[in-house]
Amino acid sequence: MNLKFVAVLLFLVVVLGLKYPQPSITHGRTDVVSVTPWLAPVVWEGTFYPVLLDSIYQKRNITVAATVFAVGKYIRFLKDFLETAEQHFFVGFRVKVYVFTDQPNEVPKVKMAAGRELVVRSVPNSKRWQEISARRMEIIQTLIEETLKNDVDYIFCLDVDSKFHSRWGTESLGELVAVIHPGYYKDDRSKFPYERRPASRAYVAPGEGDFYYCGGAFGGVLAEVHQLAQTCRKNFEDDAKEGIEAAWQEESHLNRYMWLNKPSKVLSPEYLWQDFKARNSEVRVIRFSGVIKNYNEIRPN
Ligand code: UDP
Ligand code: MN
Repeated sequence: MNLKFVAVLLFLVVVLGLKYPQPSITHGRTDVVSVTPWLAPVVWEGTFYPVLLDSIYQKRNITVAATVFAVGKYIRFLKDFLETAEQHFFVGFRVKVYVFTDQPNEVPKVKMAAGRELVVRSVPNSKRWQEISARRMEIIQTLIEETLKNDVDYIFCLDVDSKFHSRWGTESLGELVAVIHPGYYKDDRSKFPYERRPASRAYVAPGEGDFYYCGGAFGGVLAEVHQLAQTCRKNFEDDAKEGIEAAWQEESHLNRYMWLNKPSKVLSPEYLWQDFKARNSEVRVIRFSGVIKNYNEIRPN
């Protein structure tokens, strides 16, 4: 949604008293699929009216939490993440950003708008990036149980090595929300990097799986995200007891979970692009994108 369009919509709403353009039942985007076979919306630019959606959720007075982990050298990504979230993530809504880090004193002082709050929590470091990444599920589970219960309506769990570039708002809300991975969305499911060993609890058999979803962004209402985090954590830990680690750690477990528990809303790759990827024509807006990083330099192993 570009600024000009937003301005025009605001003009219609405020000056003319019109609510929003008449929705069409026969015309819309034809270059992308905007509903899954289980009838969950797939959110692409041009399939929703931001002003309309915001007005619906403003009335409900919602609070949205975001979790982000910045452990070890990943602390360097935090400033851009937080500053761009201020510009694009649920602007105008009550937001609580939970930062989990091993270096609470290094968290940048980012000015938060009214109604927005930054909460810093300490977590231990680890010698293996796989463990840092996967342990997020346990910490998210505990956060929901101990802190968020009556306080927050929706939660999004996001990678820190990324920046917001455009609106991420109420159009993304749903019971259980998954983001399509930008790397595989035109591929046959046989090419998806699911865990393929039946011994793992993240196993997805040939011929199974709908989409390949990102581990770097997911969300929904508290109860649903709690169930997801608890299940992925348990399956990851039970695998570990048997000496097995899924191909892409918690992302593999999340993909297994979303196959068995279909997301009620699916976000297009606009919601987690990768800076090194050229933009495809169906991606009209990049909202959130992973920055380019030197894995050898940044990871502990
Ligand atoms: N992470 C971290 N420190 C590490 C490794 C990972 O804080 O040493 C967190 C961080 O939030 C990161 C996420 O785990 O965004 C997932 O790891 P990464 O982004 O490296 O995975 P990728 O997106 O490259 O698959
Ligand atoms: Mn990442």
